[in-house]
Amino acid sequence: MNKKNFLSYFNASAKDWRDWRWQFGNRVTRLETLENIFRKTVLNKDLFKAVNPFYPMAITPYYLSLIRNNDTKDAIFSQCIPHPQEINFDKSAEDPLQEDSHMPVPKLVHRYSDRCLAIVTENCATYCRHCNRKRFWSPTKLISLNARLQKMIRYLIRSPQIREVIISGGDPLTFNNKTLEKILASLKAIPHIEVLRIGSRIPVVMPMRVTKELCSILKRYRPLWFNTQFNHPNEITTESARACQMLQEAGIPVSNQSVLLKGINDSAEVMKNLLYGLQKISVRPYYLFHCDPVKGCTHFRTDPKKGIIMMEEIWKQSSGLCLPQYVLDVPGSAGKIPLNVMSKAIKNDLKNHKHFFDKFQ
Ligand code: SF4
Repeated sequence: MNKKNFLSYFNASAKDWRDWRWQFGNRVTRLETLENIFRKTVLNKDLFKAVNPFYPMAITPYYLSLIRNNDTKDAIFSQCIPHPQEINFDKSAEDPLQEDSHMPVPKLVHRYSDRCLAIVTENCATYCRHCNRKRFWSPTKLISLNARLQKMIRYLIRSPQIREVIISGGDPLTFNNKTLEKILASLKAIPHIEVLRIGSRIPVVMPMRVTKELCSILKRYRPLWFNTQFNHPNEITTESARACQMLQEAGIPVSNQSVLLKGINDSAEVMKNLLYGLQKISVRPYYLFHCDPVKGCTHFRTDPKKGIIMMEEIWKQSSGLCLPQYVLDVPGSAGKIPLNVMSKAIKNDLKNHKHFFDKFQ
């Protein structure tokens, strides 16, 4: 369904479409809505109903409108429509990177000495089916922003080694401007916090959230870095390019962290188009993550050797500006193991983490 048909289905105006609150308020969360939109759907109702209690669905009309074919061969469809394989829990864990055991206070992940990750919300504009934090989608115990922020700030004040805070979630840009500014201001007020970073998929799934007002707020908290997640060239649209450009014009560098996803971007041709497309909108390809062995994501994982061969092919043809680091994230503070080229050192690293690496086969 194209944008025009979406507007008529939702009885909305073009102005509504450009309003992020409208997009957020009209997220598609029910099977019946999908069936109406797609008319003929490939969804198996029973399986959909089985997946939904574990991993609910929420998709902005904008992101849904990027679907070109109503089936799992479509890169956007696969990233946002629930799949029966999500409840095949073989060889996977809720939290393979053991983030939960590195939380000195609720929702603050401290794995590396000089930086930490603040999970400020569990909300997202669109739930990505491959998300490595999908365990948060139906939180058993909700912690209010005020409660978590107070504890985070107290921990940060007594941790002078931390110089950078990554504000993530969920998606922090699902907050309104006032709440977002409160988070930024509280962190910036800590003297030893030198750099803030926002991790958000908003430019990809709800680019209209990037407004002049938002940019003028973010500008006040520089140095502030922005990491987003484009996974497929079809996600690079006029709207998403405009959102990235507005951030860049406010002096916020925008980088991209893709995830290698089976059937979506695990071919050299698709990945090259994605990387070239990002370069054209001045977004730096920063990381390509090997998909973590997360419960509910088994069907997205590829063999790392396939990823290495693919990246070597791209590496031979492309400028360094287009090349992300292909990495495997491992638990604890060991960090991200680069997989770009199978050097001897990397092979040894893989051997050291064999127990973890084996899960990817
Ligand atoms: S926006 Fe980020 S946190 Fe939210 S579902 Fe997607 S990948 Fe997960």
